[in-house]
Amino acid sequence: MHKIESAKLLKEVMTNYFVGMGDESKKIAWCTSVGPAELLRSFGFEVYFPENHGALLGTTRTSGDYIPVASKLGYSSDICSYLTSDIGSYLSKDTPMMKHYGLKGVPKPSVLVYNTNQCREVQDWLMFFAKEFNAPIVGVQSPRHLDEVKKEDIENVTAQFKSMLPVFEKASGIKFDIDKFRETLKLSKEATFLWKRSLETAKNIPAPISFFDSTIHMGPIVVLRGTEIAKHYYEVLLNELEGHVKQSSGIIENEKTRIYWEGMPIWGKLRYMSELFAKHNAAVVASTYCNSWIFDDFDENKPFESTALAYSTIFINRSEKVKQKVMENLINEYKINGVVFHDSKTCFNNSNSRFGMPQRLKEKTGVETLVIEGDLCDLRFFSEAQTTTKIEAFIEQMN
Ligand code: SF4
Repeated sequence: MHKIESAKLLKEVMTNYFVGMGDESKKIAWCTSVGPAELLRSFGFEVYFPENHGALLGTTRTSGDYIPVASKLGYSSDICSYLTSDIGSYLSKDTPMMKHYGLKGVPKPSVLVYNTNQCREVQDWLMFFAKEFNAPIVGVQSPRHLDEVKKEDIENVTAQFKSMLPVFEKASGIKFDIDKFRETLKLSKEATFLWKRSLETAKNIPAPISFFDSTIHMGPIVVLRGTEIAKHYYEVLLNELEGHVKQSSGIIENEKTRIYWEGMPIWGKLRYMSELFAKHNAAVVASTYCNSWIFDDFDENKPFESTALAYSTIFINRSEKVKQKVMENLINEYKINGVVFHDSKTCFNNSNSRFGMPQRLKEKTGVETLVIEGDLCDLRFFSEAQTTTKIEAFIEQMN
């Protein structure tokens, strides 16, 4: 059993990133988590991700203070609690980034960019801030829930990416440079590949990293992809994890059961969940959530088309049929004994238990499934006692 030492470097990397957001000499682009970050970085923008801020509000358990503030403005507390936490935090003129990183508030955007490949919520969310900051906003309307990916889909998204270039040129004051874009995309591809290999170390028994650790270690691949910093970070992390694999050192003491967590994390209960599973010798080794920032299709030789392909084929944007296939593969490759579906109250987009998937998956693979109710940020939708009882009974059943 070990602690992941790279966490120290991670803290440094993430602190520098957030502190950098306070540098008013830099132009900042706001981007959705699976938006075209590489394209933005090629214009020299620093990229800020409101969803990452939402996760910070969840982790620091400050969401509960802010959600009602956004609700008063008409943003229902049944919609994405990243959105309501983030807008509520803005309206309250308060964010943990002030206390932890010395910022004056959220960074002022020069441009805002969304991609509806994950959900339509991000569009409304960024529109709110575009109005507040009187800043330009552009977005990609992605074809949704793809079964097969058609040539027309990729052409459509490619054209939308290209149409944003004049807006980015104007906001950055820099002319588009395809070589810079290729370079950024290559860096992003390399980092994403290292991240993939880091996650895949958990295929080993015992697993050297758990889902709960991965939700923290994925920080750089979300906010710094397209930079040397992210690439370097994942070289360090992978190197450490491979060392643990060689020594057969697991992230938990006595791994007996292997779990796949499907859906969003419960940010305010990460530690609790991590300790609960570990106490019962269950390692949570796989997820589609952390895999969402693996972009195998990036190709600097076809920068626009490959970006369109990579961002259109993310798990959340696939059909039920494709999603089930992805899940079956994870169960097989990670030698999974049970799947826990998190039915996240305010994110139906990334809750895959509502249309019979747990039952179909069990029928197909023979692996036990469990659905727990909760939320990414809004802890009013989470019952610790009820969830603990369910998870304990589930693990018991597998043993
Ligand atoms: S995918 Fe879910 S959690 Fe993410 S922004 Fe959309 S609604 Fe919110």
